[in-house]
Amino acid sequence: MAGKKKEISLQVNINDDEQWGEVLATKGLTVVDVYQRWCGPCRAVVSLFRKIKNELGDDLLHFATAEADGIDALEKYRGKCEPTFLFYAGDELVAVLRGPNAPLLQTTIQEELNKEKNVLEHGAARRPVKDEGLVEDEELNEDHTDDEDVFVPADKSFTVAIIKPDVVAHGRTHEIIMKIQDAGFVLLAHEEKTLTEAEAQDFYQHKSSEELVRFMSSGPSHVLVICKADGCDDVIPAWREFIGPPDVEDAKRKQPDSLRAQYGTASVFNALHGSRDREVASRELAFFFPNFRMAMADPGSEQAGPEQEHVERTLALIRPDAARENREEILARIHAAGFTVAMQKEVMLSDEQVRQFYSSHQDEEYFPNLLENMTSGPVLALALVKEGGVEHWRNILGPKDLVRAKTEEPECLRAQFSSESSNINQLHGSGSSEEAEREIGFFFPPEQTLAVIKPDTQHKEVILDEIRARGFTVSRLKDTVLSREMAEEFYKEHRDEPFFGQLVDYMCRGPCTMLVLTKENAVDEWRAAMGPTDPGEARETAPESLRARFAKDILQNAVHGSSNAAHARDKIHFIFGDISSENELICDLEAEESFEELKNLQTSRSPSFHELRNQTEVNATDPEGGDEMTESQQTSPEITAVSDQTGTPETPGGSQHHDTGDPRNE
Ligand code: GDP
Ligand code: MG
Repeated sequence: MAGKKKEISLQVNINDDEQWGEVLATKGLTVVDVYQRWCGPCRAVVSLFRKIKNELGDDLLHFATAEADGIDALEKYRGKCEPTFLFYAGDELVAVLRGPNAPLLQTTIQEELNKEKNVLEHGAARRPVKDEGLVEDEELNEDHTDDEDVFVPADKSFTVAIIKPDVVAHGRTHEIIMKIQDAGFVLLAHEEKTLTEAEAQDFYQHKSSEELVRFMSSGPSHVLVICKADGCDDVIPAWREFIGPPDVEDAKRKQPDSLRAQYGTASVFNALHGSRDREVASRELAFFFPNFRMAMADPGSEQAGPEQEHVERTLALIRPDAARENREEILARIHAAGFTVAMQKEVMLSDEQVRQFYSSHQDEEYFPNLLENMTSGPVLALALVKEGGVEHWRNILGPKDLVRAKTEEPECLRAQFSSESSNINQLHGSGSSEEAEREIGFFFPPEQTLAVIKPDTQHKEVILDEIRARGFTVSRLKDTVLSREMAEEFYKEHRDEPFFGQLVDYMCRGPCTMLVLTKENAVDEWRAAMGPTDPGEARETAPESLRARFAKDILQNAVHGSSNAAHARDKIHFIFGDISSENELICDLEAEESFEELKNLQTSRSPSFHELRNQTEVNATDPEGGDEMTESQQTSPEITAVSDQTGTPETPGGSQHHDTGDPRNE
């Protein structure tokens, strides 16, 4: 059958209710891509559909597109921004997926197809599902978009973009949205809105001229929330570059390909808007979408409620004197204030690194003191997370000037944890969330660790999904059956343990999936994701961890992860050879393909709707990682953890561990 594949029309276009009825009644599984007129069908998945259709060559699998506006049954989907895929079998809805998550789509298609074959061939019961979007008797909401949840990944950058009234009036919205998507931007939200004069004034604040306010309130605009498809790039500069300079003449001269050059006409009529920086983007997001929610990268965490503030990361530094003398008290105060320590690292900074980190302070008279202080011993760097974290951390730090801190706010951290020997305050906090991301990147550049899915582990595909959902980039992946010698070498540190023989037997019993994972703080984060060695303990202390969920016992504990950076380097080299050159670090196609293949082989679980949503949020912006990583490696200095330099194993510093030992005591 596979040999006789004909050029079939890949997708049926459903234009009205009658066709809708016909297509849904087709025998087999029909996957419908529900789209909005303004954005068209999901372009990203057309090639995926083609690939699946070609591979399976299955007569029972059909793809269709349906525009929500033209079909009564899809009324409740109108105005929804997120791509939605409805799976129909025998005229009944059997699954729903939201977001352009290719791996998940592929898995779900295969699962649902298998289920439907089971129904048709063996008379199994079909299991229809309900999508809240289709519930008939819900009160008809006049304005869907206002109530639509806008999920913004907390750890990715986003920008608010506006297609202004001039281009909307000229009917160019659709065309511009196509260009935006083709350029690799992803729309997280979309709303058509006519601003009142008061709103326009409010939006532009001090920049609002009479002309601008009149223009912006003259007709409907399209407001978008945008991130980058690869997720790891900062979308704000990318978007500003894409739209070009605000002055249309300037844009035409300097960037003739930019949107403003193409669509702008004169000064205020410059076609498009983009947020200036991250802070402004947050403000603008709240302005247009007061109900937005931040979706945390950690799939275990609940999404923040609409009333909650913007979850932010900030960089805290505990300078050497305080890191030596007051570490525990300061960490306790940080926890008491409601911060989560997402990453932690103790580092000995060089002169050059301090100069780089504080480049804007180099001319200040206090700089020599600061430099001396910062290089006098290990600094403890922390990435703190909390709603409104940047401002909150600065508030509890108190004034920079120690005299002021002690007289005006004696309770503040800087007043309480000052150094006897230095007039430099002992604690640092980022000035804005933009600065925080830059500073966090400085101290926590991407790191690699070796992860192994051990032989006979069930739910491999769930583990792989979770790896990505947790923001790791899979830089290498291969299945390997270890020889006895290799397994012995791999675990040579355990040669004298009583369980060594069992461990080696286990590790060469079948294929291991070997992965190189890349992320900020990857070593500790992957260990935190795995949980304790013993699944009994894991279930007690980290029930969400992989070992708590998938390990059989202390020996057959599902996954492996390097215990420190030095081990990671050694074991990656042992399994994959030398991959340290820049090009090699980029997530290569081969690895991506075997990742897909692996996932295809195993289709055992249908994630719940909530999980799908969660995964979609994170995966929709799943980084292709490599590019960003090489870039930041070029720009950040080599930050070496203290424990690395001393050659002692690093103490885990992830969110569950705060006991990094002072290397001076060792
Ligand atoms: P890990 O870094 O958390 O994997 O733990 P270790 O490096 O201490 O141990 C390596 C592997 O040996 C573990 O992942 C288990 O597969 C196995 N192992 C560790 N401790 C025991 C034990 O007490 N009994 C048995 N049978 N196996 C163990
Ligand atoms: Mg170990």
